[in-house]
Amino acid sequence: MVVGKILLQGGMVVSGSETKQADVLINGDLIEAVGPDLADQLQDRDEAEVVDCSGKLLFPGFIDPHTHFQMQASKCVTADDFDSGTRAALAGGTTVILDFTTQNRGETLMFALERWHRMADGHCSCDYGFHMSITDWNEEVRSEIPLMTENGVTSWKVYMAYPALRISDIEIYEILQAVQEEGGIVGNHCENGDLIDAVTHALREQGKLGTEAHPIAHSRGIESEAVNRYLVIAEEAGTPVNIVHLSTKEGLEFARKARKRGQTVCIETCPQYFFLDDSLYSLPDFEGAKYVFSPPARKKEDQDALWEALENGEIDTIGTDHCSFNFAVEKRIGEHDFSAIPNGIPGVEHRPALMYTYAVDTGRISKEAFCRLLSENVAREYGMYPKKGLIAQGSDADIVVWDPNAEGVITAADQTQNVDYTPYEGMKTKGRAEKVYLHGELAAQDGKVVKTGLGRYVHRGPADLSFRDKREE
Ligand SMILES: [Zn+2]
Repeated sequence: MVVGKILLQGGMVVSGSETKQADVLINGDLIEAVGPDLADQLQDRDEAEVVDCSGKLLFPGFIDPHTHFQMQASKCVTADDFDSGTRAALAGGTTVILDFTTQNRGETLMFALERWHRMADGHCSCDYGFHMSITDWNEEVRSEIPLMTENGVTSWKVYMAYPALRISDIEIYEILQAVQEEGGIVGNHCENGDLIDAVTHALREQGKLGTEAHPIAHSRGIESEAVNRYLVIAEEAGTPVNIVHLSTKEGLEFARKARKRGQTVCIETCPQYFFLDDSLYSLPDFEGAKYVFSPPARKKEDQDALWEALENGEIDTIGTDHCSFNFAVEKRIGEHDFSAIPNGIPGVEHRPALMYTYAVDTGRISKEAFCRLLSENVAREYGMYPKKGLIAQGSDADIVVWDPNAEGVITAADQTQNVDYTPYEGMKTKGRAEKVYLHGELAAQDGKVVKTGLGRYVHRGPADLSFRDKREE
């Protein structure tokens, strides 16, 4: 599609390393130039639409590395599909989402990938890519790993929990080595599945069926043991690893120890682990079900440890684990048994404003660190940099014009996410995506999508973990 030139004038352009005043010239779907006073260089001033960005921050489009859209749970499907989920992402300033393709047992990886393409292709309003979750490891699947690379899938997921998904330690070991040969990276859902099942069984026997039992069945030790085990497996395999949705202080400490031993360990966490705590599970009237996700919300000391890690640069990426179920419908499946509540919360729309408000505006982290956590590091780790994750000549014109002073309140009534609640209801925000450009087209403005269906599949390359090595120095 041919789009005219757009000049974003007078804003502050943020990257992972600096913030500087610069104009940005968009030509078609790419960034043509970044620099001072670009208007002077235009042949004819009228050839570009000039957008005044003074007082605004320009970020490379945010990337959410962790969503579950149109995902089948045991007895239902998520409230957000690729249509509403990617619209919600875009509304908040996220221009790429990475969703999890899951191989069901007995399927080939290609079969699973094609199923996800059928769900997503032609339905997305922001760009999208897929991680591949392996649940059935065998020689045929091993031989498909290069094929996935050819198809732009270079990041992987394994589960240590959930009966239908979990695989054994030796399988994880072999997958780590096979993926390493292709330059990919493997994320892990770190929870001890045997213990979840045993404790859940015991709680049910005791008649403890309310939502307050959820964090007991997914205790902190159940996560941290699995984190440590994964790190030991990775050390034996000699590969880097990614820990997704890290939630506990103890898990963080195991990751620190592994890094001290010289291992390359990437850490993702999510807004829920900063803002929600386990007291929510004791809310009356089944309200606790709104916060049933795994790993669950933790204690204040875990939140404090994660904040400290965020400030120290020990956290690499922030995803949402967006996996939405309506409180009035799907969550009710577990009304009489917490273990039947579909796990997950919405968040894809609100991650940028939440993290900007409570991490940047409060002075805990810099704008540059925010840029790394929500965009640059994500683009590098998942093989999209510098097409994504950077405002520079030749990069995709995915740009968020951010108003650092816009004040708002998060409410379900006002959200684009297609779900009947938000776990962040009533939280105040400062800063929001005023304009969101996707491949050079204005796709969202003032929190609302103005152009749908622009999303393209992102064919990704090998992982670049240099940001992690640099931190180690
Ligand atoms: Zn997830």
